[in-house]
Amino acid sequence: MSSPAPHPQKLSFPVADNCLQIGGMSLVHLAEQIGSTPFYAYDRKLISERVARLRAVLPADIHLHYAIKANPMPAVVQHLAELVDGFDVASAGELKVVLKTPMPPDKISFAGPGKTEQALREAAVAGIVVNLESVREMEILARVGASLGVRPKAAVRVNPDFDLKSSGMKMGGGPKQFGVDAEQVPAMLKRMKDLPVEFYGFHIFSGSQNLRAEAIMEAQRNTFDLARRLSADAPGPVRLLNLGGGFGIPYFPGEQALDLDAVGGHLNGLMPDARRDFPEAEFVIELGRYLVGEAGIYVSRVIERKVSRGQVFLITDGGLHHHLAASGNFGQVLRKNYPVVVGNRVNPEGEAEFASVVGPLCTPLDVLADKMALGHAREGDLIAVLQSGAYGLTASPTAFLSHPAPAEVLV
Ligand SMILES: *Cc1c(COP(=O)(O)O)cnc(C)c1O
Repeated sequence: MSSPAPHPQKLSFPVADNCLQIGGMSLVHLAEQIGSTPFYAYDRKLISERVARLRAVLPADIHLHYAIKANPMPAVVQHLAELVDGFDVASAGELKVVLKTPMPPDKISFAGPGKTEQALREAAVAGIVVNLESVREMEILARVGASLGVRPKAAVRVNPDFDLKSSGMKMGGGPKQFGVDAEQVPAMLKRMKDLPVEFYGFHIFSGSQNLRAEAIMEAQRNTFDLARRLSADAPGPVRLLNLGGGFGIPYFPGEQALDLDAVGGHLNGLMPDARRDFPEAEFVIELGRYLVGEAGIYVSRVIERKVSRGQVFLITDGGLHHHLAASGNFGQVLRKNYPVVVGNRVNPEGEAEFASVVGPLCTPLDVLADKMALGHAREGDLIAVLQSGAYGLTASPTAFLSHPAPAEVLV
C-alpha cells in the first residue's frame, strides 16, 4: 500500500487547531454541548450562502423552491422558509411540516405518485398546488374539492419524452411511475376543462444529482419546448412552470462541482422567449440536496480501535442505520467513500493511516469509510462524514438493530 495521503476533498468547513469548525464552534465543543453522539449538524450560514449564490446566478424571476425530502428537519425547513420562494413536498407528512412555516399555500406544491384520497383532501383544503401524477388523482382531487367547497389548484406532473443525461437518478423519460406520459397529457388537459379544478401549469422534473452543466442546460431547453407544445391544450394560461432541478453536489473523489455560472447564463438566454410564450407564468427551479447537502455533517465517536489481520477498523457508535447513503446502500451501484475525516485530527500530520470506519451493526454493510487515509484516530475521537446535509437521517433505516436515534442540530 502506498503511503496514505490526507483527504483529497475541499472542506466546506473551516479547520482550527486541527479541529473541524461548524457554526463558528469547534466540533469537540459542539459534541460536548449536544451531550451525546452520534449527531447530525447543519450549518445555517452555509445554507444561506448557497441560496444567495443561486440568487446571484439565476435569472431574477426564477423562483427557487426547496424540495424538503432532502432534509425535512423542522428547523432547517423554518430557516429555508425565510430564504426561498416556495416548498415542494412529496407526502402528506411533509405537507404538515411546511404548513407550520409562514410560506403561503400557493407557493407550496405536492408531487409524488400514488397520492391517497386523504392526502388529496388535505392538499385541497390547505390550498396548495397539487402536481397531478395521473388521471386518477385529477378525478379524485376534483371530487374532494367539490365536496369540501374549494376549487383545488392543479398542475400536471409530466413524464417528459426526454431524459436528463448523466443523472445520479433519472426520474423522467421512458416508462416511469412518476407523472403522466407527455403523450397522454393533451387528453388529460381536455378532460380537466370539465372539472372544478383551477389549472396552474406543469411540473417537469427529469432527474437528480447531476454535475454536468450541459446536461442540465439541455434538459431546461427541452422542458420549455415540451411546455410550449402541451400548453396548446391547456384549460387556461400557464401560471406555474416548474422546470425541475437536478443540480448535483460532488460526493466522491474526482467529482467536480456543478458549473452554476454556465447553467445560470444559459437559463438567462432562454428567459426572453419563455416570458413571451408564458406571460402569466411563475418559473420555478426546485432543489433539494444542492441547498442543504454540503451544509451538513454526520458525527460519530470511535468506541474501539480494532486491528484485524493488519487492517485498522474504527468502530463507531454511528453507522448505516443513521446514514445509509454513506454506507453505499442508497442507490449507489459501486460503493465509494463519502468524504470522511477524523474531526478532531483533520490533518493527519505525519500520522496518517489507512483505516475503515464501521458502525456497531452486525452486518458487513455497516461501513462508513472503507480503507481511507485518515488521521490516526484514538478511542473517543470524533469521525465526521461530510456532504451529509441531504438524504441522511430520514433516508436511513433507523430502527434496524434498535440503536438510539441520533441528535440533529441546526447551528
Ligand atoms: C427528490 C425530488 C427533488 C429533489 O431532488 P434533489 O436531487 O435533492 O435536488 C425535487 N423534485 C422532486 C419532484 C423530487 O422527487
